[in-house]
Amino acid sequence: MSTPSQTTCVDPAGFAHSVAELVRIPSVNPLHGGPIAAAHGPIGEGALALRLAQRLRGCGAAEVISDDVFEGRPNVYGYFPGHTDRVVAIDVHTDTVSVEHMTDPPFDGRIEAGSVWGRGALDNKATLGVLLSLLESWHRQGLRPHPSLLVVGTVSEEAGGLAGATRFRRWVTERDIRIHQLLVAEPTDFHPVHGLRGLVLLSITTFGKSAHAATPHLGRNAIETMAPVIAAFTAEQQRLHTLGPMTALGAGCVSVTQVTGGTGSNVVPDRCSITVGRRLVVDENPHSVVAQLSAIARQACRGECEVVSLLPPNDEGTPGTRAFYQDPSSELVRFLAAACGTTPNVAPFGANALRYNGLADEIALFGPGSIAEAHQATEKIAVDDLIRLGSVLQTWLSPS
Ligand SMILES: [Zn+2]
Repeated sequence: MSTPSQTTCVDPAGFAHSVAELVRIPSVNPLHGGPIAAAHGPIGEGALALRLAQRLRGCGAAEVISDDVFEGRPNVYGYFPGHTDRVVAIDVHTDTVSVEHMTDPPFDGRIEAGSVWGRGALDNKATLGVLLSLLESWHRQGLRPHPSLLVVGTVSEEAGGLAGATRFRRWVTERDIRIHQLLVAEPTDFHPVHGLRGLVLLSITTFGKSAHAATPHLGRNAIETMAPVIAAFTAEQQRLHTLGPMTALGAGCVSVTQVTGGTGSNVVPDRCSITVGRRLVVDENPHSVVAQLSAIARQACRGECEVVSLLPPNDEGTPGTRAFYQDPSSELVRFLAAACGTTPNVAPFGANALRYNGLADEIALFGPGSIAEAHQATEKIAVDDLIRLGSVLQTWLSPS
């Protein structure tokens, strides 16, 4: 890893203003839309994608590509040739979660009490804002990053099956681009994260026959048919928990997270559905896990039962997501940990990296701020954290 360039000068106050500008451009994921978001302009990542493309051009990108993932919701890729052919990439998702539950103005991007405030400030505009500010400053000074740099703004991370990341993966594969190091921006409190559990999400429905609740023997109760299915998943979770941490990502786990059924207090229900989520660890195959969960449901259910995957198949045709994992001894992970005085971690949340297994020689999630503070009624990122991130990126990209 190269040493930081001493010749560059960057205005740290510029970081906060750069992030604030991005916060003021609403980019709520359409699946998180609502009246408050709608009152602030079109929902979705479109406006932010336009501005990102404009800022990338403004800081000297050799190529800026807008890649429509959904109509009006493009990924944006900006390419900056460096002093070597070695390509590094930074992926930042451009969507945010809902603002409907916020107790703070969602898009004012104010800089107050040492932080930038507003939806997306932490998750995930901090890294994008700092990076653009650095690139703009380097461009003014006639500098460029040492490795060639691909800046990637992806849509649809917070909801919608990581469609932007799936698209970016295809784009890289079709062009046969070799990425040496890929940094996936997320609030990891400056810990490099090298493992994420995968996910299989199923909807399971039992069927019965309606009747008046006063004559239940004339019907078949779909909720009662579902009860042993739920109990079977509770038992499966106990089994997985007893296995203990068998991999670097711990053990898998399963939860029943939603239940719906019944149409009235005096009607025997003819339908009941549950949502079952299963977290996957290293080497678990989503196909086999779906098959195993289906078998558990069918065995426990004494009647008819339908199992449907709630996640769209990915490029491999898999109904769900494998875990993301790579060796923490990689150069990128070691560099980030050393630069920040932190330790490599694995994390329990989902992120674009789940689509990036093997897409780059080395991959790490990394960014300022804590995931525990994301998606809340208020959102902020400390200006000090932006400055710290700026110095890490400056060292990593070593402009000259
Ligand atoms: Zn995020």
